[in-house]
Amino acid sequence: MQVTGSVAELRAWSRAVRQAGGTVGLVPTMGALHAGHLSLVKAAQERGDRVAVSIFVNPTQFGPQEDFAQYPRMLEADCRLLEAAGVERVFAPEPGVIYPDGAATFVEVEGLSGRLDGASRPGHFRGVATVVTKLLVAAEPDRAYFGQKDAAQVAVLRRMSRDLLLAVELVVCPIVREADGLAMSSRNRYLSVDERREALALSRAVAAGEAAFAAGERSAAAVCAAARRELEAGGQVRVDYVQLVNWATLEPVETAAAGDLLAVAGWVGTTRLIDNGILG
Ligand code: AMP
Repeated sequence: MQVTGSVAELRAWSRAVRQAGGTVGLVPTMGALHAGHLSLVKAAQERGDRVAVSIFVNPTQFGPQEDFAQYPRMLEADCRLLEAAGVERVFAPEPGVIYPDGAATFVEVEGLSGRLDGASRPGHFRGVATVVTKLLVAAEPDRAYFGQKDAAQVAVLRRMSRDLLLAVELVVCPIVREADGLAMSSRNRYLSVDERREALALSRAVAAGEAAFAAGERSAAAVCAAARRELEAGGQVRVDYVQLVNWATLEPVETAAAGDLLAVAGWVGTTRLIDNGILG
């Protein structure tokens, strides 16, 4: 496995793979890898792709008061995991490679970028759309793999890919959870023992909303209320949002239908966590 910070090197590998008749799968990450990230690698390999993983803590998707500085960085440990998983290339660029001096070009998916996490994290999805565009240009993959864990991000990137006529196929993989239901996240490391327990309110909230829908509830307000009750039950989660939206547009729905996205976000202590489920 080669680790490179060079766009030219990554692109040369990608082109060589395709020249030899292979396909390239890119898994973009911010590192501090866990089984959720590795599930994307596995999905790519199962499709027959040769896999590159990018590790880049993208400054432009963090707000000024957010955790960019303390976001966990552990490149060596990440690389050991990826090597064992059969990844061929790790792209770990310096910030100046992705954002050369004077970089003035950004990708904004209007409308969607202001919904869900985009509403509470202004500029977040602009940063995400911009960095993913650059990573796709750098790696020229046939497919790029993303987790449903960040479901609003998926909606933004799908729209971006369509609007920009990108040739890449976006593949979305299911949420990988801890045994007790907590969605895996690099930010779970921030949680104390007590907070780790309280964080279960998020997955319980999603499960409660899904259960209400499965039991025949079709009022979006009632589905959200069921989820919110669980989220607030322990009194330790500061709710950011509980919303039922159309997964393509991220606009709230009034009537719940299969395929809608039930998304929740909240702070446990100072850690912001998200979770979601697709109804039906
Ligand atoms: P991140 O490193 O948090 O930016 O995540 C990189 C990719 O891994 C994104 O596409 C995430 O949606 C995905 N991912 C993160 N956590 C999970 C999880 N628990 N299950 C599935 N995919 C995940």
